[in-house]
Amino acid sequence: MENTLSPGLYIVATPIGNLGDITLRAVETLKGVAAVACEDTRVTGKLLHHLGIKQRLIRYDDHASEGDRERLLALMEAEPMALVSDAGTPLISDPGYRLVRIARERGIAVTSLPGPNAAVLAMTLSGLPNDRFLFAGFLPNKAKAREDTLASLANVPATLVFYETAPRLDASLAAIGEVLPGREVAVARELTKKFEECRSGPPGELAAHYAAHPPKGEIVLLIGPPGDEPVGEVDVDALLRAALVDAKASQAAGMVAKATGLDRKTLYARAMELK
Ligand code: SAM
Repeated sequence: MENTLSPGLYIVATPIGNLGDITLRAVETLKGVAAVACEDTRVTGKLLHHLGIKQRLIRYDDHASEGDRERLLALMEAEPMALVSDAGTPLISDPGYRLVRIARERGIAVTSLPGPNAAVLAMTLSGLPNDRFLFAGFLPNKAKAREDTLASLANVPATLVFYETAPRLDASLAAIGEVLPGREVAVARELTKKFEECRSGPPGELAAHYAAHPPKGEIVLLIGPPGDEPVGEVDVDALLRAALVDAKASQAAGMVAKATGLDRKTLYARAMELK
């Protein structure tokens, strides 16, 4: 396929952990284009080195200047150009939207090569209903905005899929426990990597687990649809027992109170009984 690609933009998905997940077509395209636009030249440089591909790399993200974007658009009018992100499918919570939009407006050929995507992979793994799902990117950082976003999605009849970071997982699970109690939640972590896991249950149970075992790495957070076999009452004793593994009764009560919205004093009394 080398040197046979026509001019235009080639959107190329790359692995999200396991380098074996690159497609044959992605490799041929990355070899055959005139240059590769990428978020971080070091990250993409490493991938190309692993694949034995030497390529001209051009840094591009959505904060790129108008001039940078115009230069890239001029190149893809004359030659085949690839766009990759650090990992996964470009444009999906990654740069590229403006570039693709303008390229299409100008009649530049745009081709997208399917490949790894963390949201879809987590959806297939979670066991949550998959006939309808809504990908909602990252939840906001601030507590009020996070709760408002969850509330705005409460009646969507679909599994909700979010990108998440390890340091914020506890706050997001607590917010889900408050705003969408009774929903089944899944945490899909480190997908395609050595420590891949997918854990599901009520938000309070997951909050207690991750309070006792702070998560590392990359995370997709999923929330089952409303009315789909809602998870029963939270098993407070199970949450407290899980938290008591590594915490004192007062801390355990605090964690479970935060995750479930239940009264801290009552939880403390119960934690003392369980100890
Ligand atoms: N465009 C990428 C894709 O197609 O999946 C997503 C880029 S976004 C900036 C990065 C987020 O994707 C991470 O914070 C995490 O939520 C999710 N993610 C990426 N790789 C992952 C992995 N291996 N396991 C779990 N989540 C992952």
